[in-house]
Amino acid sequence: MSDPNIPTEPPDPIRRGFGLKDQVRAERREAYYSPLIEKIRQAGNRWRIGGIELRLAREFGFCYGVDKAIDFAYETHRRFPDRRIFLTTEIIHNPRVNQRLIEMGVHFLGGQYAGRYGIEDVTAEDVVFLPAFGYEVQLLERLRGIGCITVDGTCGSVVHVWKRVERYAREGLTSIIHGKWRHEETVATASHVAAEGGKYLVIFDEPEATMVCDFIRTGEGSQLLAEKFRRAMSPDFDFSRDLERIGVANQTTMLSSESLAIAGMLRSALEARYGSEGIEDRFRMFETICTATQERQDAVQEMMADPPDLMLIVGGFNSSNTGHLCEIAAHHCPSYHIEEVDCLISPERIRHKPAGGGAAIETKGWLPARRPLSIGITAGASTPNRVVGEVIERLASWEEK
Ligand code: SF4
Repeated sequence: MSDPNIPTEPPDPIRRGFGLKDQVRAERREAYYSPLIEKIRQAGNRWRIGGIELRLAREFGFCYGVDKAIDFAYETHRRFPDRRIFLTTEIIHNPRVNQRLIEMGVHFLGGQYAGRYGIEDVTAEDVVFLPAFGYEVQLLERLRGIGCITVDGTCGSVVHVWKRVERYAREGLTSIIHGKWRHEETVATASHVAAEGGKYLVIFDEPEATMVCDFIRTGEGSQLLAEKFRRAMSPDFDFSRDLERIGVANQTTMLSSESLAIAGMLRSALEARYGSEGIEDRFRMFETICTATQERQDAVQEMMADPPDLMLIVGGFNSSNTGHLCEIAAHHCPSYHIEEVDCLISPERIRHKPAGGGAAIETKGWLPARRPLSIGITAGASTPNRVVGEVIERLASWEEK
């Protein structure tokens, strides 16, 4: 009898778990759970180590989308013990989680963990897992053509963005996506716009939005823009034609205050060019920052009402939402985005990614010697509690000497 969990023809992605959550729980807990974090949470998110007071953000760590994707990947691994399992790219932006999947025998087809296999090696006998960020439409079509089993770990909040931009495309609006043009989620979102026959332009920050708004107001400088945004727009994007009616959406993990500011700038520019009458037809905005990102940003903002002496923000260096948590905190106190416990090299030296981006650097003299000292801690939506717990244990090992 055929397995009802595995579609036959056409091979649509499997989007529901296999009912094996209980069977993978222990394995998952072993990899990501931290009893210390549990203890600190129960103690009201405050913890004392010698002269250091630790303050944990009210919300941090794994979000619902990451939880679901990891469960689903573990279940897939359990469900298909005799098949090769591939991930199209990182399942989420966290080195610990991706390394663990490699140890389990999962192969990566793309991204920084790509090994010896490419998509051309995938056969109908294989299983391909699509990560939490989603997938490009063309990639799914190719997998369908191969006829392999495809398991879709895309977060529901990302699907929500796709629905929004697809609607913009059907209504003839150009999608302006506030995001990073090379981020997996935004690449996938852009492909969904294109698949509906729509146009898109990806804007990263307010300075880029200012350039676009200046063009909308004056109609001048399209060549400069075409060069600047060449990798961040539809292949046949025409600035003079495609910015008359726009709909704004965001990569789910952007800074919400910046997304709102950019939307406001674009709306004002359209009003300046075409007048306020009919603006509802020319401009749409739907904030698609996901709830988990928003809650983690809000929790850091709350902590900054009474800032700690310094802040540690734990998460993958390529994790967009973690980087934004660091940006928020950095306005109020010295803030260090660290990827793993090894980034805490010594009480003297720390390896971290500076707020606002750039490559990881080493900073000396990061941990003040004075006591009492307060340290705030938060973590991005893809960071296991186990990693945060290890960071606290390392601080404790120095303090208790
Ligand atoms: S950060 Fe948001 S969009 Fe991304 S996986 Fe988590 S819940 Fe989903």
